[in-house]
Amino acid sequence: MHWLPLLLTVVSRVAQVLQLDRMSHMDRLLRPIGTKHSFTAYFKGLEKVEAVKEIFGEQTEEVLRNLKVKFTWLPGYMWIDSGDGSLVVSSRYLNNGDKTDIYLDLIHELVHVKQLREGKKLFDVEYDYADRPTEIEAYQHAVEEARRLKLNDEQICQYLKTEWMSYEDLKRLANALNVKCS
Ligand SMILES: [Zn+2]
Repeated sequence: MHWLPLLLTVVSRVAQVLQLDRMSHMDRLLRPIGTKHSFTAYFKGLEKVEAVKEIFGEQTEEVLRNLKVKFTWLPGYMWIDSGDGSLVVSSRYLNNGDKTDIYLDLIHELVHVKQLREGKKLFDVEYDYADRPTEIEAYQHAVEEARRLKLNDEQICQYLKTEWMSYEDLKRLANALNVKCS
């Protein structure tokens, strides 16, 4: 096996074991990640989306205007660099991922942007991923938007599934979000 795919496999295994939020703290270990870009240059029109306005209220435009995004070759989805508050997005996920998943992940991560601004600890290891209040709040916003998009519970449940959550964890998270997973 070529070294790069092997490294990526190892990195994603580590992420799974550590139950990181779509890779979260790995950013610190794996810098440099890339240059910072303006979030609004890549993700346009989100300041007009009701679900986003619900997160930031009157500060929506200002927050999005100041938000930075970094693209990375790392595997995974997207996460917040808690060091500088920027959004980190896996280029592979952005190019190949399901568009609805990406959109719902953006809503989820924007909730983390708000939490970070409030001084909250995003990756509180006192809680399991599925029970962490910051995660539940972020998923609540994403699930609400998924419902507006007319996704049914089964589809939302599929969206909630991640490599690092056991079936029991998924059921617990789904329960907290009032989503029925069969
Ligand atoms: Zn999260």
